Amino acid sequence: MEIKVTRAAQLKPKPDENRLGFGQIFTDHMLNLDYSPDKGWHDPRVEPYGPIAMPPSAMVLHYGQAIFEGLKAYRNPAGKIQLFRPRANIERLNRSAKRMCIPQMDPDLLLESLKTLLRIEQDWVPGAAGTSLYIRPTVIATDPFLGVRASHTYRYFVILSPVGAYYAEGFNPVKIWVTRDYVRAVRGGVGEAKTPGNYAASLLAGEEAHRAGYTQVLWLDGVEQKYVEEVGAMNIFFVIDDEVVTPALNGSILPGVTRDSVLTLARHWGIKASERRIGIDEVMAAHAAGRLKEIFGAGTAAVISPVGELKYGDQTLTVGDGKVGPLSQRLYDELVAIQYGKAPDPMGWVEPV
Ligand SMILES: *Cc1c(COP(=O)(O)O)cnc(C)c1O
Repeated sequence: MEIKVTRAAQLKPKPDENRLGFGQIFTDHMLNLDYSPDKGWHDPRVEPYGPIAMPPSAMVLHYGQAIFEGLKAYRNPAGKIQLFRPRANIERLNRSAKRMCIPQMDPDLLLESLKTLLRIEQDWVPGAAGTSLYIRPTVIATDPFLGVRASHTYRYFVILSPVGAYYAEGFNPVKIWVTRDYVRAVRGGVGEAKTPGNYAASLLAGEEAHRAGYTQVLWLDGVEQKYVEEVGAMNIFFVIDDEVVTPALNGSILPGVTRDSVLTLARHWGIKASERRIGIDEVMAAHAAGRLKEIFGAGTAAVISPVGELKYGDQTLTVGDGKVGPLSQRLYDELVAIQYGKAPDPMGWVEPV
């Protein structure tokens, strides 16, 4: 399929690479692609970044039929641009689409059109240490209709945002708060889909955690509220004795690309890495016995987010000595080095643009 390109008449000034935050600045162009029952997905095009006109009756505004992805483009030491496991994000977008009754998309078209957009926007990929270009593919339901059913028409779009180093203030552990009042997802629900409603549903717990002085919420399962699921919008890992444990994918956990990369690397290094059910009681007991060595979150934005303190009910525990653990540090260093093309890529994770 040919990708049409319409260039912006005027380009925006590039921001200061050392003062980039997250998700506040957008590039000059975006990618658009439409779906209708008669044409399927059609008309892939790069156009100037700008508002999406839609009637107030557009279905996405009422029933939230939408999905998204999050990945990054990195500038390597040779100055070239590369992606990290983009096909994994594209496959997940299609799995989210299936759950939300959105038509499947051609993975090759999504990857090729993304590369076309990135080549046009290549000057927007920052080069300062720790910076990257965040990529946000999204699909929204566009039928002007108020009945509850799947839309017949959709818009896929991709926007790009240069982002700063996540750990601008240093690679420091965060404090997390186990919520007993709220759950993120339930059995048979949409927890494993990257769909906007999951994030709206998590906001109130996040605000309460912040008010209590905690950075992230640790979510327990939605059935018994006994088993650990995720931390904030990241997957979670525990190091107990010499075993790395992360909750098994059970339908309510988002299957993170970083999660899979952590498991793959740990196993490659000969470390026992298990995907299984892990109760919050097991975590507390392991800590009491001196066997809980590290906790960390894993996701595209932070890569690895070490946890220094965990609060559950009236118990507050310090993980390890409250500092970054050795495995958290090793995983972070290795993943970042691969993403930026500074280390060999034995798994074939890097995709040149
Ligand atoms: C996106 C996301 C993750 C992490 O996925 P990555 O592919 O590693 O970025 C984990 N949990 C939730 C709820 C997410 O939305």
